[in-house]
This record gives sequence, C-alpha cells and structure tokens, in this order.
Amino acid sequence: MGSVRYDVIVVGGGPAGLMVSRICAENGLKTVLIEKEKRLCMKPCAEGVLIEAFEEAGLKVDPSYAVNRVAGGELISPDESIKLVVEDADRKFGVYGYIVDKPKFLNALLLRAYDAGVDVWLRTRARKVKVCEDHVEVEVTGWKNLTVHGEVVVGADGSESVVARDVFGYGKQELIPTLQYRMKDCELEREDFIYVYVGREVAPLGYLWVFPKGDGEANVGLGIRKAPLKYHLDKFIENHPEMFGKAKIVEVDGAAVPIGGPRKSLVNDRAVLCGDAAGHVVPISGEGIRPAIIAGKIAGEVICKAFDEENFSEKFLRAYQNRFNERLGRLMKWALKARRTLEVLKDPEIIRLISLMDEESIIELALKLRVWKFAKKLMGDPVFAVSIAAKLLRA
Ligand SMILES: Cc1cc2nc3c(=O)[nH]c(=O)nc-3n(C[C@H](O)[C@H](O)[C@H](O)COP(=O)(O)OP(=O)(O)OC[C@H]3O[C@@H](n4cnc5c(N)ncnc54)[C@H](O)[C@@H]3O)c2cc1C
Repeated sequence: MGSVRYDVIVVGGGPAGLMVSRICAENGLKTVLIEKEKRLCMKPCAEGVLIEAFEEAGLKVDPSYAVNRVAGGELISPDESIKLVVEDADRKFGVYGYIVDKPKFLNALLLRAYDAGVDVWLRTRARKVKVCEDHVEVEVTGWKNLTVHGEVVVGADGSESVVARDVFGYGKQELIPTLQYRMKDCELEREDFIYVYVGREVAPLGYLWVFPKGDGEANVGLGIRKAPLKYHLDKFIENHPEMFGKAKIVEVDGAAVPIGGPRKSLVNDRAVLCGDAAGHVVPISGEGIRPAIIAGKIAGEVICKAFDEENFSEKFLRAYQNRFNERLGRLMKWALKARRTLEVLKDPEIIRLISLMDEESIIELALKLRVWKFAKKLMGDPVFAVSIAAKLLRA
C-alpha cells in the first residue's frame, strides 16, 4: 500500500467536513477531504436551515439552493386542537430560514472548498485511523487504496464516525431513527410555514415534520423511538387527506440522528471531531446543519493556529471545544433537558403546555434561551408549573 502526505486529513464530506477543509486550505494548509460516497449528500434531510448557517458559511442566499423561504411555523398539539403559530415574516425576532435543496447547498460548499485548494477524494472510505506521536495515519480504500499521513485528522464522518471510534474509543451515540418521504402535489395551508406535530400517538418519543419545498413538494418525515416508523408516518398521511389526498411519494429514505448532545471530549492530540461525529445536533429539534457549519469553521480556525504555533496537543486544540461551547453549548444542554422532559409528558400534559405558550415566549425560550417570558406564562397554572419544573430538574 502506498502513502501520501497532507497537513490536514478531513474524513467526511458533509457540512462539517466541507467547512473545516475549506478554512484549512484557505489558510495555506495542504488539505484532503475523504468521502466514502460517489457524490455528496446521500443522507436524507428535512433541509431546514436557519439564516445563521448561510452567514457562517459565507454563502449568499441563492435561489438555486435556498428553494423556499420559511416565514414561520406551527407547533401542533397531540389532539390537533391547538396550533401554536410562530411567524417572523417581518424578521422582528431575527430568526428565519430556508428549506434548501441540500445536494445543491452542499455543492455550493464543495465549490468553495475546491476553490480554496482542497483535494476531494470521493468513493474513498477511511477504514482505520491512528494517531502517532509525530503524525496521524488514515488507511483508505476505494478510489484510492493507500495510507494518508498528516499532522492532524478531523472526524467529520457522521454518527458512525471511524475517527471517534479509533482515536477517541467512543461507542455508539444516543440515536433516533427517522423515516422521510419526499412528496409531490401536497396541498398545504401555507407553503412558507413548517409544520411540527408532537404527541405519543402521532410521534412517540419524537416528532413529525412537514417541511414544504414549494410548488406542492414537501419533506414529510418523523423521528420516533420504540415504535414502527412506517406505520406512524403512513397513518399520519392517511389521517390528513386535506394535505395529502392527492399527493404522491417520490422518494423514501431514512437515517439515524444523534440526539444525546455533544460528546464529552471533542479533541485529542492531533485529532478533532465535528458535526454529527461530535454529537453536534440540537437534541430536541434534530437541527444539525448550522451546528456542523459553526463547529467546522471554529475547528478550522483553531487547526490553522495550531500550525502557526506548531502545537497539535489536545490542550492546544481544546480551544475549539471551548469556543464551540461558548456559541452553542447552552443551547445543546438546554435542548437535551427539554427533550428528556417532553419525553416523560403524557399527551394531556403536552396539550396543557402548548396551551400556555405564545409566539413570543416560545421564540424567547427555544431560540434565545431566555426562560423568563415562558416561566411567566407557565405560572398561569402554578400546579402544572411546579410539576414541569420538577421534571426539568430530574431530566
Ligand atoms: C431525516 C433527517 C432529517 C434532517 N433534517 C434536518 C434539518 O431539516 N435541518 C438540519 O439542520 N439538520 C437536519 N438533519 C441533521 C443533519 O442532516 C446533520 O446533522 C448534518 O448533516 C450533519 O453534518 P455532518 O457534516 O456532521 O455529517 P453528515 O452530513 O452525516 O456527513 C458525514 C459524511 O461523512 C461520510 N463518511 C462517513 N463515514 C465515512 C468514512 N469512513 N470514510 C469517508 N467518509 C465517510 C458520509 O458519507 C457523509 O457524507 C436531519 C437528519 C436526518 C437523518
């Protein structure tokens, strides 16, 4: 088996890997991106992306990949009696986003990486990763069969990360299975809204989403646990002829999403983990694209500094984990607690909870992590408030 040498070896061509490799190459580091699939984005996705992700990635909002502007959404209670509407049409909350065409979105990131000088190896799988005292080694097979030597390895290889396994000794993360249909000819009330359904009946221990892509097309899927995915998704579609009576399924796909929050340590000597490999998914919503982009960008910046200082120690690279935590650590922690609390609530309690929320309190809570407005609303029913607080404390 031959060998080749790079400064930085990035495993995985998702949003995290594309971001970190580009930053490294832009700063003059010889960088290779290793991707096992023959093209990017083989994994399904509901394709909802907040504007912050575009900004972090330095991508403009281009209609070729930002296909549908989302002005708001509805959180629908288990009995569908309450539809909590959150709308940011005039952008007063500063949080809005798009449904993207993810393959095209990733392609835009890929072109930026190419322009920066990243060597992209498709159809090449990282089999084994080893950190030695003065270098790293990644054994690859597929389009290339060789050992890649480098100074630093980045594990951006998703929830089944080989880097997390070989370098960090990590086992499986807490995962939720998903199933998604891409559907055409849907008749949705508003195509600029996303729809989220919760409750033990409709989506046990998870939630169900309808994310419109425009012109009657939508990603309709669910992530649930301890329950059959297809049964629940089909039942939902059958129970909503007003939306799906004329609709056709044109694609079926599924994948696991890590929902246990970030791994304890994301850095080791000469190695870092980013994105799904690091558990960078908001545990209550499954949002992982923006965290992956933010993590990839910070990791890239810290790795470049490590080259400046010729210091690839765990201690030096820890700046990446600290900076990520400053940005999104609180959100990840809060969302994990909120998910665990929601999971123990029965449908009547979820209905009560949603009935006590309003647009402003949910935005303040879910996106800005300010609990005050939500707590005030909850105090409208003090007994219920105490029981929720107790569950939150236990979560
Ligand atoms: C059904 C579903 C819906 C979702 N919806 C949304 C959403 O609407 N919004 C949102 O923000 N997030 C969503 N997510 C989560 C989001 O897709 C991920 O969190 C995000 O893609 C993580 O990016 P990543 O770069 O860390 O990993 P990934 O996108 O998983 O990319 C990892 C890459 O590594 C490659 N790879 C793996 N192992 C190897 C190996 N050994 N060698 C070489 N290459 C390897 C894979 O082929 C893959 O291309 C959804 C996920 C699912 C499953």
